Amino acid sequence: MTPVSGALNMVDAWVIDVDGCLVSTSRAGGQGGTPIPGAVEFIRAVRDSGHAMRVVTNASACTPHRYAQQLREMGFDLSDDEFITAGSAAAAYIAATHAGARVLAIAEEGIVEPLAALDVDVTVDDAEGVSVVVVGAVDILDMSRLGAACHAVADNGAALYVTVNTPWFHGGRGRSVCTSAATAHAIAWVTGVEPVVLGKPSDALAATLRRQLGGDAVAIAVVGDAPAEVALAREMDALSIGVLTGALTRKAVADASDRTRTPDVIVDSIADLTDHIAPADSTRPHV
Ligand SMILES: [Mg+2]
Repeated sequence: MTPVSGALNMVDAWVIDVDGCLVSTSRAGGQGGTPIPGAVEFIRAVRDSGHAMRVVTNASACTPHRYAQQLREMGFDLSDDEFITAGSAAAAYIAATHAGARVLAIAEEGIVEPLAALDVDVTVDDAEGVSVVVVGAVDILDMSRLGAACHAVADNGAALYVTVNTPWFHGGRGRSVCTSAATAHAIAWVTGVEPVVLGKPSDALAATLRRQLGGDAVAIAVVGDAPAEVALAREMDALSIGVLTGALTRKAVADASDRTRTPDVIVDSIADLTDHIAPADSTRPHV
């Protein structure tokens, strides 16, 4: 395991998780939560250092603006543009790779609004002409929409995307079901088509984040409490930092047989990183 200070010497850009990392919550995206002690100060220190950052949640029910606003109300100094959800990432990917496609979204505003903002032809209730199905978190699953999605995939050969592919969300206060993954796997069971993931730790999101943070030359740290952030760091060729305020436990890391699936650095809390943030260095490449 690498010591914290040495590991952070060259880091000048950050990807930071929300649930169980910045915020202790029982609902995805930091909703109804409270800041983890020292997390607000950590974000302020990153801001003061001049480093670029993206705060990335696998939540998809609300828009990035809504989630970012909730974090601002808790005291976090974050702009809408610095906040990425699995929903906004999915919308951006679909708009870029399926130009002109009609998209069936089993999702809330967190995907439907970003798709519409990108001028994607989006429907929420019929399979007619649909060549892409995207599944995000939903509060109520309408069986007619589930049926339409199955028909689009099975009959039209529509591509099937999902925001995340884990059974549970961990927010530091227990866990909740990932309705996106559960719904997508229902469609997969019916159609035999496995969903493609577009949130953490997908290669699509990894490429987007690295591009937004300045490209290949930038030294990036990915901070989070779950295996998804470790895997994302590997996809991004970034430093993986695990915090113990959410899903991850020191025992699980010690027991892990596959070192590629464990963080490079482990700290009790994101607050433990604040004093080790390197100052902005004009000799290093920046965004
Ligand atoms: Mg988390």
